[in-house]
Amino acid sequence: GDELVSAVHRIMAHADATRRLAVRANADNAEDAARARRFGAQGIGLCRTEHMFLGERRQLVEDLILATDEAGREAALRKLEPLQRADFAEIFEAMDGLPVTIRLLDPPLHEFLPDLTELSIKVAVAGDKADAKDRVLLDCVKRLHEQNPMLGLRGVRLGLVVPGLFAMQVRAIAEAARARAEVGGDPRAEIMIPLVGAVQELELVREEAEHILAETGVDALIGTMIEVPRAALTAASIAEAAEFFSFGTNDLTQMTWGFSRDDVEASFFSKYLDLGVFGVSPFESLDRDGVGRLVRIAVEEGRKTRPGLKLGICGEHGGDPDSIHFCHEAGLDYVSCSPFRIPVARLEAARAALTAGDSDTR
Ligand code: PEP
Ligand code: MG
Repeated sequence: GDELVSAVHRIMAHADATRRLAVRANADNAEDAARARRFGAQGIGLCRTEHMFLGERRQLVEDLILATDEAGREAALRKLEPLQRADFAEIFEAMDGLPVTIRLLDPPLHEFLPDLTELSIKVAVAGDKADAKDRVLLDCVKRLHEQNPMLGLRGVRLGLVVPGLFAMQVRAIAEAARARAEVGGDPRAEIMIPLVGAVQELELVREEAEHILAETGVDALIGTMIEVPRAALTAASIAEAAEFFSFGTNDLTQMTWGFSRDDVEASFFSKYLDLGVFGVSPFESLDRDGVGRLVRIAVEEGRKTRPGLKLGICGEHGGDPDSIHFCHEAGLDYVSCSPFRIPVARLEAARAALTAGDSDTR
């Protein structure tokens, strides 16, 4: 009963005093954020904003991507911005005083487009009687169709191609933060750009974001995911435009090994990993020799450019015990994992510090 509870609290307090790694949560809504906080999360390391665009809102993003003129784009953005602002306001409230890393939209493009096959059939079946609007739409969807959406117009690439998309999100973050501060809250926004492979991409987004932050008088860190191998290899220049790095080891594993992350669980592909040739699947436990090497390169190069660079991990590995040990050894500042894995991550981070013999008892 009470004794057990207090013993657990003592153990957790001891772990928290021992570990050097901070532990954050991956959370996309206020409910998960609050749960994460109860589990001891010290912030949000990854808020995936694409999860906020299901249902009706998905249609608005579709309208934005497919808009053929400025007026259509503006109309979609005007509807999206207040919805996003409300999303962020709730999360800032739940996480008051703690850092919240909000990742700008990173969907595989096809998730925000009408289905090509369905639309083709509809137009073909209608023949001469096909709606003119459907024909235009079909042309548009054909132009945007990708064979490999996961290697396509995702993340920063989509953000640069669709004018106003990222700006709308940054404005919503800034306005939500400003409103929170005005009622005496302490919002700590960190804006994260996904799928960056070159510093030039980051610079373009950063310029626009800084402009909006200055306009609204809001302070927010701007940083990037490191999830494309090239980003790790060019971390020294990427750090010039990033105040933090967060390792997206899901994509980094996919791209380093050339293993499709969408196929490793289902399909025949899983049998290949089950052969055990590589030991555990690199998607489950961070592969130190390949992916880990890229992480180490990025840590070293990034900190050379920017000694205060904040470093975290938000791929699934952030909640895996063995990977947490690696993150400690590699010198990261925090791991971010699903809310339910937070207690274990706190313990494992402490064990990593003890194993490494450099426990820091603040
Ligand atoms: C990652 O790639 O590791 C990541 C955290 O982003 P996502 O899983 O959303 O691609
Ligand atoms: Mg990713």
